[in-house]
Amino acid sequence: TSQYDVIIIGAGAAGLMCAATAGYRGRKVLVLDHANKPGKKILMSGGGRCNFTNLNSTPANFLSDNPHYCISALKRYTPQDFVELVDRHGVEYEEKAPGQLFCKDSAKDILNVLLTECEWAGAEIRMNTSVSGVQASGSGYTVKTSAGTLKCQSLVVATGGLSIPTMGATGFGYELAKQFGLTVLPTRAGLVPFTLHPELKQQLAPLAGVSCPVDASCHKQHFRESMLVTHRGLSGPAMLQVSSYWQPGDELHINLLPAQAIQDDLFTLRKQKPQSTMAQYLNQHLPKRFAQAFNELQGWSRPLQEYRNQDIEQIADTLGNWTIKPAGTEGYRTAEVTLGGLDTRQLSSKTMAVLEQPNLFFIGEVVDVTGHLGGHNFQWAWASGVAAGNEA
Ligand code: FAD
Repeated sequence: TSQYDVIIIGAGAAGLMCAATAGYRGRKVLVLDHANKPGKKILMSGGGRCNFTNLNSTPANFLSDNPHYCISALKRYTPQDFVELVDRHGVEYEEKAPGQLFCKDSAKDILNVLLTECEWAGAEIRMNTSVSGVQASGSGYTVKTSAGTLKCQSLVVATGGLSIPTMGATGFGYELAKQFGLTVLPTRAGLVPFTLHPELKQQLAPLAGVSCPVDASCHKQHFRESMLVTHRGLSGPAMLQVSSYWQPGDELHINLLPAQAIQDDLFTLRKQKPQSTMAQYLNQHLPKRFAQAFNELQGWSRPLQEYRNQDIEQIADTLGNWTIKPAGTEGYRTAEVTLGGLDTRQLSSKTMAVLEQPNLFFIGEVVDVTGHLGGHNFQWAWASGVAAGNEA
């Protein structure tokens, strides 16, 4: 039959979680997706190991134009709840960095948990099915698909963001929202590598492949993680994190030696070993290739005794507050997430239901809630999926 209680568009992290939750409530659930396989982003996430949650996730790990919105759902479905689910399925995992849980074996384990849960809950998943139109009819919806016209009481939009279009990402959720007169906030790529202007790109070219721990900041948001120089620009966790706060034209501030009291170090070194050089100091604290290239870039070639106090202060400032203006980002092609999206002021924070349009729900990345790197985005997908699944 073509009549369902709940149709969910998008068989990604949020859609599958929502499907299982609604299915366990006895709802007749259908998940539609135009891709050939469900959960493709889960499979490619965390370098193939899926950083499926973060034990330290708090609302402060999320960006949104309406920052309090995410609190309710995140409180009612916590990282511990997802860990319990994963434990029940016997998935092995490890804490690779503080709070960040990754599969020990493969991201497939997380997808299998979700698909098994959907099966147990009786939720049907139909892949290779595109949706050509949605219309409100009575208190429900008519969904036109490549597999015919379907009807449902509740419609859940879980189509994700715009990042990685080759994985099936589309702006469908945003278009649908606009069709129902809802506001969609401007979107942009987040958790994405930076590109550089030609001169700096050329100067840093010899450093491609080198990574070092830094403190990177933009708009006073600091991230103390590693930075990776690539042949295209700057990447690594610190750069991805800070990219979510960066707008075109903004500067980035990078402390290359966040563990050092640089100025004090240099004054002491000048006193104790006046003949020592900046190259020697940098070699002690930075990867050798980085130390050498950065030193050449700055032209710090004389022994420390030849530098005046104000020179030392300036050197310390350059190292502790290296300021660069990226040319841009690599955009949606490589971004892990999409910032912006459906304005959450139009949704119930408890159920993810549209306030002014009965039985229509938006969950996951299509909504204007974006997590930091480190498992927070999946936690939002699970939490928002469960919130809608309990109501739809
Ligand atoms: P998605 O998982 O993107 O699912 C959306 C689904 O909707 C897709 O299956 C898509 O095919 C379908 N769809 C889209 N348009 C249509 C349409 N018109 N018709 C039908 N179906 C449609 N987050 C973490 O927390 N930890 C990580 O380790 C991590 N690693 C990542 C690595 C990479 C490379 C990327 C790109 C992202 C990563 N993320 C990670 C982010 C995370 O994958 C997303 O935040 C999460 O998948 C969002 O879930 P979602 O269900 O909202 O959307």
